[in-house]
Amino acid sequence: MENSPIPEQVVNAIHYAAKHAPFYQKHFSTRPFEELTTKSFRALPFTTKEDLSQNNRDFLCVPSDQIAEYVTTSGTSGKPVTIYLTKNDLRRLAKNEKESFELTGAKAGDLFQLMTTIDKQFMAGLAYYLGVQELNAGMIRIGPGVPALQWNSILENKPTILIAVPSFLVNLIDYAKQNGIDVNQTSVRAAICIGEPIREEDLSENVLARRIHADWNIELFSTYASTEMGAAFTECTAHQGGHLNEDLIYLEVLDDDGNAVSHGEKGEIVITTLETEGTPLIRYKTGDVARIYSEPCSCGRTSPRIGPILGRKNQMIKFKGTTIFPPSIYEIFDSRSEISCYKIEVAKDYLGHDTITILLENRIEHSPVMNQIIEDCKAKLRVVPHFVFLETDYLRSQVFKNHMRKPEKIVFK
Ligand SMILES: [Zn+2]
Repeated sequence: MENSPIPEQVVNAIHYAAKHAPFYQKHFSTRPFEELTTKSFRALPFTTKEDLSQNNRDFLCVPSDQIAEYVTTSGTSGKPVTIYLTKNDLRRLAKNEKESFELTGAKAGDLFQLMTTIDKQFMAGLAYYLGVQELNAGMIRIGPGVPALQWNSILENKPTILIAVPSFLVNLIDYAKQNGIDVNQTSVRAAICIGEPIREEDLSENVLARRIHADWNIELFSTYASTEMGAAFTECTAHQGGHLNEDLIYLEVLDDDGNAVSHGEKGEIVITTLETEGTPLIRYKTGDVARIYSEPCSCGRTSPRIGPILGRKNQMIKFKGTTIFPPSIYEIFDSRSEISCYKIEVAKDYLGHDTITILLENRIEHSPVMNQIIEDCKAKLRVVPHFVFLETDYLRSQVFKNHMRKPEKIVFK
Protein backbone atom coordinates (compact mmCIF):
# COMPACT_ATOMS: atom_id res chain seq x y z
CA MET A 1 0.00 0.00 0.00
CA GLU A 2 2.77 2.40 0.93
CA ASN A 3 4.29 2.34 -2.54
CA SER A 4 0.96 2.55 -4.33
CA PRO A 5 0.75 5.63 -6.53
CA ILE A 6 -1.37 8.60 -5.53
CA PRO A 7 -4.16 9.50 -8.00
CA GLU A 8 -3.02 11.84 -10.77
CA GLN A 9 -5.54 14.51 -9.75
CA VAL A 10 -3.90 14.70 -6.31
CA VAL A 11 -0.43 15.03 -7.83
CA ASN A 12 -1.76 17.80 -10.08
CA ALA A 13 -3.31 19.60 -7.10
CA ILE A 14 -0.02 19.52 -5.19
CA HIS A 15 1.98 20.77 -8.19
CA TYR A 16 -0.51 23.55 -8.79
CA ALA A 17 -0.51 24.72 -5.15
CA ALA A 18 3.29 24.55 -4.88
CA LYS A 19 3.63 26.61 -8.03
CA HIS A 20 0.98 29.29 -7.46
CA ALA A 21 0.31 29.70 -3.72
CA PRO A 22 2.93 31.73 -1.81
CA PHE A 23 2.05 29.72 1.30
CA TYR A 24 2.75 26.34 -0.31
CA GLN A 25 5.93 27.59 -2.00
CA LYS A 26 7.34 27.93 1.52
CA HIS A 27 5.39 25.12 3.18
CA PHE A 28 6.79 22.26 1.09
CA SER A 29 10.49 22.03 1.78
CA THR A 30 11.02 19.03 -0.50
CA ARG A 31 10.20 19.03 -4.20
CA PRO A 32 9.59 18.14 -6.94
CA PHE A 33 6.75 15.76 -6.17
CA GLU A 34 6.90 13.49 -9.20
CA GLU A 35 6.59 9.81 -8.35
CA LEU A 36 4.38 10.55 -5.35
CA THR A 37 3.46 7.39 -3.47
CA THR A 38 1.10 6.99 -0.56
CA LYS A 39 4.16 7.03 1.68
CA SER A 40 5.71 10.21 0.30
CA PHE A 41 2.29 11.90 0.20
CA ARG A 42 1.88 11.15 3.92
CA ALA A 43 5.25 12.74 4.54
CA LEU A 44 3.93 16.08 3.25
CA PRO A 45 3.16 18.47 6.11
CA PHE A 46 -0.45 19.13 7.10
CA THR A 47 -2.16 22.45 6.56
CA THR A 48 -3.90 23.66 9.73
CA LYS A 49 -6.73 26.11 10.34
CA GLU A 50 -4.18 28.42 11.93
CA ASP A 51 -2.03 28.31 8.76
CA LEU A 52 -5.04 29.34 6.71
CA SER A 53 -6.21 32.04 9.08
CA GLN A 54 -2.79 33.59 9.67
CA ASN A 55 -1.66 33.51 6.02
CA ASN A 56 -5.04 33.75 4.35
CA ARG A 57 -4.07 35.77 1.28
CA ASP A 58 -0.95 33.61 0.70
CA PHE A 59 -3.23 30.72 -0.26
CA LEU A 60 -4.57 32.65 -3.24
CA CYS A 61 -3.31 31.19 -6.55
CA VAL A 62 -4.71 33.63 -9.11
CA PRO A 63 -4.53 37.40 -9.75
CA SER A 64 -7.30 39.39 -8.01
CA ASP A 65 -9.14 40.04 -11.27
CA GLN A 66 -9.70 36.29 -11.66
CA ILE A 67 -11.65 36.03 -8.40
CA ALA A 68 -15.36 35.54 -9.08
CA GLU A 69 -16.55 35.07 -5.47
CA TYR A 70 -15.23 35.81 -1.99
CA VAL A 71 -16.77 33.38 0.48
CA THR A 72 -15.99 33.11 4.18
CA THR A 73 -15.96 30.22 6.59
CA SER A 74 -18.76 30.12 9.14
CA GLY A 75 -16.39 30.98 11.97
CA THR A 76 -17.65 28.07 14.11
CA SER A 77 -14.15 28.03 15.49
CA GLY A 78 -11.80 30.98 15.41
CA LYS A 79 -11.68 33.93 13.05
CA PRO A 80 -13.50 33.56 9.68
CA VAL A 81 -11.22 33.08 6.70
CA THR A 82 -11.81 33.96 3.07
CA ILE A 83 -11.87 31.31 0.35
CA TYR A 84 -11.35 32.82 -3.11
CA LEU A 85 -13.27 31.20 -5.96
CA THR A 86 -12.69 31.60 -9.69
CA LYS A 87 -15.35 31.06 -12.31
CA ASN A 88 -14.15 27.45 -12.71
CA ASP A 89 -14.40 26.99 -8.95
CA LEU A 90 -18.06 28.06 -9.18
CA ARG A 91 -18.57 25.41 -11.88
CA ARG A 92 -16.92 22.88 -9.57
CA LEU A 93 -19.29 23.94 -6.79
CA ALA A 94 -22.31 23.56 -9.07
CA LYS A 95 -21.17 20.07 -10.13
CA ASN A 96 -20.62 19.07 -6.50
CA GLU A 97 -24.07 20.18 -5.41
CA LYS A 98 -25.86 18.72 -8.44
CA GLU A 99 -24.24 15.34 -7.73
CA SER A 100 -25.10 15.68 -4.03
CA PHE A 101 -28.74 16.27 -4.91
CA GLU A 102 -28.69 13.27 -7.26
CA LEU A 103 -27.52 11.08 -4.36
CA THR A 104 -30.79 11.94 -2.58
CA GLY A 105 -32.85 11.01 -5.62
CA ALA A 106 -33.59 14.64 -6.60
CA LYS A 107 -33.94 15.32 -10.33
CA ALA A 108 -34.96 17.86 -12.96
CA GLY A 109 -38.45 19.08 -12.18
CA ASP A 110 -38.04 19.02 -8.40
CA LEU A 111 -38.73 22.29 -6.58
CA PHE A 112 -36.46 23.19 -3.66
CA GLN A 113 -37.25 25.65 -0.87
CA LEU A 114 -34.06 27.15 0.55
CA MET A 115 -34.30 27.92 4.27
CA THR A 116 -30.71 29.00 4.74
CA THR A 117 -28.79 32.19 4.04
CA ILE A 118 -27.57 32.79 0.49
CA ASP A 119 -25.85 36.14 1.08
CA LYS A 120 -23.38 37.23 3.82
CA GLN A 121 -20.57 35.52 1.85
CA PHE A 122 -22.12 32.14 2.68
CA MET A 123 -20.97 29.33 0.42
CA ALA A 124 -23.59 26.67 1.11
CA GLY A 125 -26.57 28.81 0.04
CA LEU A 126 -24.77 29.73 -3.15
CA ALA A 127 -23.74 26.12 -3.78
CA TYR A 128 -27.33 24.93 -3.36
CA TYR A 129 -28.54 27.59 -5.76
CA LEU A 130 -25.94 26.71 -8.41
CA GLY A 131 -26.57 22.98 -7.94
CA VAL A 132 -30.32 23.35 -8.38
CA GLN A 133 -29.79 25.29 -11.62
CA GLU A 134 -27.31 22.65 -12.84
CA LEU A 135 -29.88 19.97 -12.07
CA ASN A 136 -32.52 21.84 -14.09
CA ALA A 137 -34.70 22.00 -11.01
CA GLY A 138 -36.38 25.03 -9.40
CA MET A 139 -35.68 26.99 -6.25
CA ILE A 140 -37.62 29.25 -3.90
CA ARG A 141 -35.16 31.30 -1.81
CA ILE A 142 -37.02 32.14 1.38
CA GLY A 143 -33.89 32.23 3.54
CA PRO A 144 -33.62 31.36 7.24
CA GLY A 145 -36.29 31.73 9.93
CA VAL A 146 -39.85 33.10 9.69
CA PRO A 147 -42.00 29.95 9.90
CA ALA A 148 -45.11 31.81 8.69
CA LEU A 149 -43.40 32.81 5.46
CA GLN A 150 -42.01 29.30 4.95
CA TRP A 151 -45.46 27.74 5.33
CA ASN A 152 -47.10 30.30 3.05
CA SER A 153 -44.65 29.36 0.34
CA ILE A 154 -44.95 25.60 0.93
CA LEU A 155 -48.73 25.78 0.62
CA GLU A 156 -48.65 28.19 -2.32
CA ASN A 157 -45.66 27.04 -4.42
CA LYS A 158 -45.65 23.35 -3.46
CA PRO A 159 -41.91 22.63 -3.15
CA THR A 160 -40.90 18.95 -3.04
CA ILE A 161 -37.59 19.27 -1.14
CA LEU A 162 -36.58 21.58 1.71
CA ILE A 163 -33.01 22.62 2.49
CA ALA A 164 -32.90 23.45 6.19
CA VAL A 165 -31.18 23.10 9.54
CA PRO A 166 -32.97 20.21 11.26
CA SER A 167 -33.72 22.13 14.47
CA PHE A 168 -35.61 24.63 12.33
CA LEU A 169 -37.82 21.79 11.02
CA VAL A 170 -38.89 21.32 14.67
CA ASN A 171 -39.92 24.99 14.72
CA LEU A 172 -41.85 24.50 11.47
CA ILE A 173 -43.73 21.56 12.98
CA ASP A 174 -44.62 23.63 16.08
CA TYR A 175 -45.91 26.46 13.91
CA ALA A 176 -47.95 24.05 11.79
CA LYS A 177 -49.55 22.54 14.91
CA GLN A 178 -50.47 25.97 16.25
CA ASN A 179 -51.96 27.05 12.94
CA GLY A 180 -53.91 23.97 11.88
CA ILE A 181 -51.56 22.90 9.08
CA ASP A 182 -51.30 19.14 8.49
CA VAL A 183 -47.59 18.68 7.71
CA ASN A 184 -48.23 15.29 6.14
CA GLN A 185 -50.68 16.66 3.59
CA THR A 186 -48.21 18.92 1.78
CA SER A 187 -46.06 18.64 -1.35
CA VAL A 188 -42.83 18.18 0.69
CA ARG A 189 -41.27 14.70 0.40
CA ALA A 190 -37.73 15.27 1.70
CA ALA A 191 -35.42 17.63 3.55
CA ILE A 192 -31.72 18.04 2.98
CA CYS A 193 -30.31 18.79 6.42
CA ILE A 194 -27.42 21.18 6.91
CA GLY A 195 -25.39 22.25 9.90
CA GLU A 196 -26.36 19.67 12.51
CA PRO A 197 -26.12 15.88 12.66
CA ILE A 198 -29.28 13.78 12.38
CA ARG A 199 -27.57 10.43 12.96
CA GLU A 200 -26.12 8.63 15.94
CA GLU A 201 -22.67 7.13 15.83
CA ASP A 202 -24.17 3.82 14.59
CA LEU A 203 -25.98 5.73 11.76
CA SER A 204 -29.40 5.26 13.34
CA GLU A 205 -31.52 8.41 13.71
CA ASN A 206 -30.56 10.73 16.56
CA VAL A 207 -33.10 12.35 18.87
CA LEU A 208 -33.49 15.36 16.58
CA ALA A 209 -34.35 13.20 13.54
CA ARG A 210 -36.66 11.00 15.63
CA ARG A 211 -38.42 14.07 16.93
CA ILE A 212 -39.02 15.36 13.39
CA HIS A 213 -40.20 11.93 12.22
CA ALA A 214 -42.60 11.61 15.15
CA ASP A 215 -44.70 14.29 13.43
CA TRP A 216 -43.54 14.61 9.86
CA ASN A 217 -43.12 11.73 7.44
CA ILE A 218 -40.46 13.15 5.11
CA GLU A 219 -37.13 11.60 4.15
CA LEU A 220 -34.21 13.32 5.92
CA PHE A 221 -30.78 13.46 4.31
CA SER A 222 -27.68 14.22 6.31
CA THR A 223 -24.90 16.32 4.79
CA TYR A 224 -21.44 17.32 5.91
CA ALA A 225 -19.58 20.09 4.14
CA SER A 226 -17.25 22.98 4.74
CA THR A 227 -16.38 26.17 2.93
CA GLU A 228 -12.74 25.15 2.82
CA MET A 229 -13.41 22.00 0.83
CA GLY A 230 -16.09 23.48 -1.42
CA ALA A 231 -17.74 20.09 -1.57
CA ALA A 232 -20.20 18.02 0.43
CA PHE A 233 -20.57 14.50 1.77
CA THR A 234 -24.22 13.64 1.21
CA GLU A 235 -26.26 10.59 2.16
CA CYS A 236 -27.83 8.45 -0.54
CA THR A 237 -31.22 6.81 -0.04
CA ALA A 238 -29.52 3.98 1.89
CA HIS A 239 -28.67 6.49 4.68
CA GLN A 240 -25.41 4.72 5.51
CA GLY A 241 -23.11 7.75 5.80
CA GLY A 242 -22.35 10.67 3.48
CA HIS A 243 -20.70 9.72 0.18
CA LEU A 244 -17.38 11.30 -0.80
CA ASN A 245 -17.24 12.97 -4.21
CA GLU A 246 -13.94 11.46 -5.35
CA ASP A 247 -13.55 13.85 -8.28
CA LEU A 248 -13.44 16.87 -5.97
CA ILE A 249 -11.85 15.79 -2.70
CA TYR A 250 -9.06 13.41 -1.72
CA LEU A 251 -9.99 12.15 1.74
CA GLU A 252 -7.85 10.89 4.60
CA VAL A 253 -9.28 9.89 7.98
CA LEU A 254 -6.40 9.77 10.42
CA ASP A 255 -5.74 8.74 14.02
CA ASP A 256 -3.77 10.91 16.45
CA ASP A 257 -0.49 9.53 15.07
CA GLY A 258 -1.38 10.44 11.49
CA ASN A 259 -2.16 6.86 10.39
CA ALA A 260 -5.19 6.09 8.24
CA VAL A 261 -7.95 4.41 10.27
CA SER A 262 -9.68 1.34 8.85
CA HIS A 263 -13.32 0.73 7.84
CA GLY A 264 -15.72 1.64 10.65
CA GLU A 265 -13.10 3.38 12.77
CA LYS A 266 -13.07 7.05 13.76
CA GLY A 267 -10.44 9.68 13.08
CA GLU A 268 -9.90 13.26 12.01
CA ILE A 269 -11.06 14.25 8.52
CA VAL A 270 -8.15 15.57 6.46
CA ILE A 271 -8.88 16.78 2.93
CA THR A 272 -7.02 17.72 -0.22
CA THR A 273 -9.10 19.73 -2.67
CA LEU A 274 -9.04 18.61 -6.31
CA GLU A 275 -9.68 20.77 -9.38
CA THR A 276 -9.65 24.04 -7.39
CA GLU A 277 -8.06 27.18 -8.84
CA GLY A 278 -8.50 29.98 -6.31
CA THR A 279 -7.67 28.48 -2.91
CA PRO A 280 -6.42 24.89 -3.09
CA LEU A 281 -5.75 23.09 0.19
CA ILE A 282 -3.35 20.18 0.62
CA ARG A 283 -3.75 17.80 3.58
CA TYR A 284 -6.00 20.28 5.40
CA LYS A 285 -6.90 19.23 8.96
CA THR A 286 -10.59 19.98 9.48
CA GLY A 287 -10.57 19.20 13.22
CA ASP A 288 -13.77 17.18 12.66
CA VAL A 289 -13.86 13.62 13.96
CA ALA A 290 -16.00 10.98 12.22
CA ARG A 291 -16.06 7.28 11.31
CA ILE A 292 -15.13 6.19 7.80
CA TYR A 293 -16.92 3.44 5.89
CA SER A 294 -14.78 2.28 3.00
CA GLU A 295 -16.66 -0.87 1.99
CA PRO A 296 -19.20 -0.51 -0.85
CA CYS A 297 -22.58 0.99 0.04
CA SER A 298 -25.80 -0.99 -0.39
CA CYS A 299 -26.76 1.57 -3.06
CA GLY A 300 -24.02 0.08 -5.26
CA ARG A 301 -21.64 3.04 -5.12
CA THR A 302 -18.08 2.33 -4.05
CA SER A 303 -17.04 5.82 -2.88
CA PRO A 304 -16.11 5.97 0.83
CA ARG A 305 -18.65 7.40 3.26
CA ILE A 306 -18.33 9.20 6.55
CA GLY A 307 -20.61 8.99 9.55
CA PRO A 308 -21.88 11.97 11.59
CA ILE A 309 -19.36 14.39 13.04
CA LEU A 310 -18.73 13.05 16.54
CA GLY A 311 -16.96 16.13 17.78
CA ARG A 312 -14.57 18.92 16.97
CA LYS A 313 -11.10 18.67 18.33
CA ASN A 314 -11.34 22.23 19.72
CA GLN A 315 -14.85 21.86 21.18
CA MET A 316 -14.03 19.62 24.08
CA ILE A 317 -15.42 21.03 27.34
CA LYS A 318 -13.57 20.30 30.56
CA PHE A 319 -16.17 20.69 33.26
CA LYS A 320 -15.60 19.81 36.93
CA GLY A 321 -13.18 17.03 36.07
CA THR A 322 -15.32 15.60 33.25
CA THR A 323 -14.75 15.91 29.50
CA ILE A 324 -17.90 16.72 27.55
CA PHE A 325 -18.50 17.04 23.80
CA PRO A 326 -21.39 19.37 22.85
CA PRO A 327 -23.52 16.63 21.16
CA SER A 328 -24.06 14.90 24.51
CA ILE A 329 -25.59 18.14 25.85
CA TYR A 330 -27.69 18.64 22.71
CA GLU A 331 -29.15 15.19 23.15
CA ILE A 332 -30.60 16.02 26.57
CA PHE A 333 -32.50 19.02 25.25
CA ASP A 334 -33.34 17.78 21.74
CA SER A 335 -35.01 14.70 23.21
CA ARG A 336 -37.59 16.70 25.22
CA SER A 337 -40.65 17.71 23.23
CA GLU A 338 -41.41 20.46 25.81
CA ILE A 339 -38.25 22.28 24.71
CA SER A 340 -38.27 23.91 21.29
CA CYS A 341 -35.36 26.29 21.83
CA TYR A 342 -32.22 26.39 23.99
CA LYS A 343 -28.70 27.70 23.93
CA ILE A 344 -25.49 26.59 25.62
CA GLU A 345 -22.86 29.07 26.75
CA VAL A 346 -19.38 27.83 27.60
CA ALA A 347 -17.10 30.30 29.37
CA LYS A 348 -13.97 30.24 31.54
CA ASP A 349 -14.19 31.12 35.23
CA TYR A 350 -11.49 33.12 37.03
CA LEU A 351 -9.50 29.90 37.59
CA GLY A 352 -9.54 29.12 33.87
CA HIS A 353 -12.04 26.24 34.22
CA ASP A 354 -14.89 25.86 31.75
CA THR A 355 -18.36 26.74 32.99
CA ILE A 356 -21.57 25.71 31.23
CA THR A 357 -24.75 27.80 31.25
CA ILE A 358 -27.94 26.62 29.56
CA LEU A 359 -30.40 29.27 28.38
CA LEU A 360 -34.01 28.05 28.38
CA GLU A 361 -37.46 29.56 27.86
CA ASN A 362 -38.86 31.03 31.08
CA ARG A 363 -42.00 28.86 30.86
CA ILE A 364 -39.73 25.86 31.58
CA GLU A 365 -38.45 27.25 34.90
CA HIS A 366 -41.27 26.02 37.13
CA SER A 367 -42.49 23.15 34.97
CA PRO A 368 -42.05 19.49 35.99
CA VAL A 369 -39.71 18.92 33.04
CA MET A 370 -37.03 20.96 34.83
CA ASN A 371 -36.51 18.23 37.43
CA GLN A 372 -36.19 15.64 34.68
CA ILE A 373 -33.61 17.78 32.90
CA ILE A 374 -31.53 18.03 36.08
CA GLU A 375 -31.73 14.25 36.51
CA ASP A 376 -30.68 13.77 32.85
CA CYS A 377 -27.70 16.07 33.34
CA LYS A 378 -26.60 14.15 36.44
CA ALA A 379 -26.99 10.81 34.66
CA LYS A 380 -25.55 11.66 31.24
CA LEU A 381 -23.07 14.49 31.92
CA ARG A 382 -22.38 13.63 35.57
CA VAL A 383 -22.62 17.35 36.39
CA VAL A 384 -25.39 19.96 36.53
CA PRO A 385 -24.78 23.17 34.58
CA HIS A 386 -26.18 26.61 35.43
CA PHE A 387 -29.58 27.52 34.01
CA VAL A 388 -30.81 30.94 32.91
CA PHE A 389 -34.43 31.51 31.86
CA LEU A 390 -35.38 33.98 29.14
CA GLU A 391 -38.43 35.18 27.28
CA THR A 392 -39.19 32.84 24.33
CA ASP A 393 -38.94 35.36 21.47
CA TYR A 394 -35.72 36.77 22.84
CA LEU A 395 -34.16 33.34 23.27
CA ARG A 396 -35.23 32.34 19.76
CA SER A 397 -33.61 35.51 18.37
CA GLN A 398 -30.38 34.51 20.12
CA VAL A 399 -30.40 31.05 18.52
CA PHE A 400 -31.77 31.70 15.03
CA LYS A 401 -29.80 34.83 14.26
CA ASN A 402 -30.47 36.28 10.84
CA HIS A 403 -26.84 36.77 9.95
CA MET A 404 -25.85 33.30 11.16
CA ARG A 405 -25.86 30.29 8.91
CA LYS A 406 -26.69 27.71 11.52
CA PRO A 407 -28.75 27.86 14.70
CA GLU A 408 -26.31 29.09 17.30
CA LYS A 409 -26.93 26.33 19.84
CA ILE A 410 -23.59 26.79 21.53
CA VAL A 411 -21.16 29.67 22.05
CA PHE A 412 -17.66 29.52 23.45
CA LYS A 413 -17.04 32.84 25.20
ZN1 LIG B 1 -24.95 4.83 -0.92
